Amino acid sequence: MNILHNHDLTQSTGFKTPLHVRKYILIEHEKDIETIPAFGNDIPLIIGGGTNYLFVKTEIDSAISYTGSEITVIEDSNLTSVIRVGAGKVWHEFIIEMLDNGLFGLENLVLIPGTVGAAPVQNIGAYGREVAESIQTVHGIQLSSGMRVSLSNEQCQFTYRHSIFKTKDWNDFLITHVDFLLQKIEYPMAHYPDVQAYFTQQEIHEPHCLDIAHAIMDIRQRKLPDPSIIGNAGSFFKNPIIDISTYQTLKSTYPDMPSYPVDDKTVKIPAGWLIDKAGWKGFRHNGAGVHEHQALVLINANDAFGADIYALSHMVQNSILTMYGITLEPEVNIIA
Ligand SMILES: Cc1cc2nc3c(=O)[nH]c(=O)nc-3n(C[C@H](O)[C@H](O)[C@H](O)COP(=O)(O)OP(=O)(O)OC[C@H]3O[C@@H](n4cnc5c(N)ncnc54)[C@H](O)[C@@H]3O)c2cc1C
Repeated sequence: MNILHNHDLTQSTGFKTPLHVRKYILIEHEKDIETIPAFGNDIPLIIGGGTNYLFVKTEIDSAISYTGSEITVIEDSNLTSVIRVGAGKVWHEFIIEMLDNGLFGLENLVLIPGTVGAAPVQNIGAYGREVAESIQTVHGIQLSSGMRVSLSNEQCQFTYRHSIFKTKDWNDFLITHVDFLLQKIEYPMAHYPDVQAYFTQQEIHEPHCLDIAHAIMDIRQRKLPDPSIIGNAGSFFKNPIIDISTYQTLKSTYPDMPSYPVDDKTVKIPAGWLIDKAGWKGFRHNGAGVHEHQALVLINANDAFGADIYALSHMVQNSILTMYGITLEPEVNIIA
């Protein structure tokens, strides 16, 4: 275990806004888990790569990370392998290592920034897949009591950008390892419109999983700002889910409003479309901004503070509520 005092975390967050932590606890090895004290009610903030946080404050009391990135094969058969990975492993690097070893299932999730430990928390998803489809077990430690706990996929209660780890009772749970069930046989999923269009253009008729990984890397690099160059946290808001009758009413005013069916009563509306249509693309507020090409992405355009980006997010939310009667919910974790 390593403890850093008065540590500057600015460069370790997606938005790159000024941030200091008074005490930063780094758990670097499996053997250190035994030495983690029970924190009682004084729980440090759990941080992975920091890419999905907006820090409105410029200083926090304490934070903790599990930085171990060990990879172990737990089970192996002709068709599948179960792989245990330390929470600190960089997510994209993990997928590439698995693909290099002929293990498939995560290829649609390439280039999502952050760590393996954060992936189950909001059930990361992209291009038609969610990580929940490949998670077998999540292991960790309840920081209040010091108790070690393992949860099966079902116990994690995964839904769209949500899991049990986002609920109040589990916000002290430090994930240390995740077990993934990966396939040795390829089941490529290329149905997502952008991916389909890519393969049509490239004249690839039966893409393999590696083709999908390369296609999605290419699409993402063209579409999304790189947080190491322009501070951002990816999609700032979740895509709102509304009932079909509300959608029909809105569609009479906005005939081109897109939607994706969720069930027989509700549809999902792309939040980026709503924000774009409301005219926010390229808008600047102090140093904060709405990205020129991706309206769903708020950015640190020019030395913004977290408070500037937070203020801009409220301006966008209010405008969407006034224009469409829809409340946008942040996908990003806000520490106000
Ligand atoms: C350019 C860009 C594109 C993105 N694209 C996508 C996308 O396509 N799909 C998608 O789903 N997300 C996307 N994101 C969001 C982000 O990449 C994911 O949420 C990612 O999982 C965050 O990882 P992190 O390690 O940085 O987590 P952090 O930002 O550090 O933490 C995020 C949350 O996870 C918790 N957490 C982190 N580590 C642990 C742990 N070890 N134990 C328990 N809790 C933990 C934190 O407490 C916090 O609640 C994008 C972000 C950016 C900047």
